[in-house]
Amino acid sequence: MTALADILRAQIRAVGPMPVDDYMALCLGHPQHGYYVTRDPLGAVGDFTTAPEISQMFGEMIGLWLARVWLDARRPAPFRLVELGPGRGTLMADALRAARVAPGFAEAAELWLVETSPALRAEQARRLPAAQWADRLEAVPEGPTLLVANEFLDALPVRQFIANGRGWCEKRIGLDGERLVWGLAPPQPGDCDTPEGTWREESPLADRVAAEIARRIAAQGGAALIVDYGYRAADRPPGFTLQALRAHAPADPLEAPGEADLTWLIDFDRLAAGLAPLASACAPQGAFLGRLGIGRRAAQLAAAQPGAADAVADALERLTAPAQMGTLFKALAAWPAGQPVPPGFEEAR
Ligand code: SAH
Repeated sequence: MTALADILRAQIRAVGPMPVDDYMALCLGHPQHGYYVTRDPLGAVGDFTTAPEISQMFGEMIGLWLARVWLDARRPAPFRLVELGPGRGTLMADALRAARVAPGFAEAAELWLVETSPALRAEQARRLPAAQWADRLEAVPEGPTLLVANEFLDALPVRQFIANGRGWCEKRIGLDGERLVWGLAPPQPGDCDTPEGTWREESPLADRVAAEIARRIAAQGGAALIVDYGYRAADRPPGFTLQALRAHAPADPLEAPGEADLTWLIDFDRLAAGLAPLASACAPQGAFLGRLGIGRRAAQLAAAQPGAADAVADALERLTAPAQMGTLFKALAAWPAGQPVPPGFEEAR
């Protein structure tokens, strides 16, 4: 067992079973042993890979999106270009290169990265020397804001509840001897009408981030683009979505705390509601990237480097095919009501 497991056991012995959000916050963010604190988890040798690490085309499409939205907003200068959870900084480096199609964009952009991991901040600094860092969005100075977040919200601590016929019971982590085990808190009295077995996941931190994005952009202009894996009401999964990934394979979330990535699936309808009063639209990642021209970009890259044509085709397939990242991953844009609908969302709801 890990050093973090000892800390978790001691805490559970001292104060009792731990809600899932506290467990997740410690596993991912403990100042010495947290998963994101101790390593760069991304890429082929890490535990998981993300769209910007698969191909430069992903960040480039987001760069074109940012450039278009900036032009449509009549080129605010300066503006805050914010990324939440930038990983290695790959997405933003690719986006800035592509956004050169809009003269003046780079000069007007004041780049802010919201990142808590020292290991990943160091990676980001290598690729984005002009960046400034903040621990939370609230610390980024006010002003017109174009914000991007890819696979960020799914890493924020989530709480889980299940209805047992008498009320909602919160899932918790307790101890069976030395072993970490799942348990349930007694029901919160009140809402005994919910059918038994109904589940709910909610992240107070993700809700707060959404509210802060909405506040800033409603007051000062801009737009947000949030990409993540998740679902709409029509395809809500049958049960809890929290999962652990270790070396690209599913793992038991309680098995090796601090050694595995923990994520959950975003409820995009809840997210859209949390971004009110902004207008918003959601599209499957494949459709979104297709409308921005990823197919044309792939053809260009393949023509420029015939030796890489297979790799480009493979990356295009991974990013856009329904059986791969094309539909499970979704893009959600949010903007002040009354402004033009951002590119890629013209036909989305
Ligand atoms: N967007 C990147 C990385 C996704 S992994 C990509 O697509 O490759 C999640 C990122 O969010 C990491 O950079 C992680 O360190 C960061 N992160 C996780 N929790 C955070 C928090 N509470 N505040 C700020 N950043 C956080």
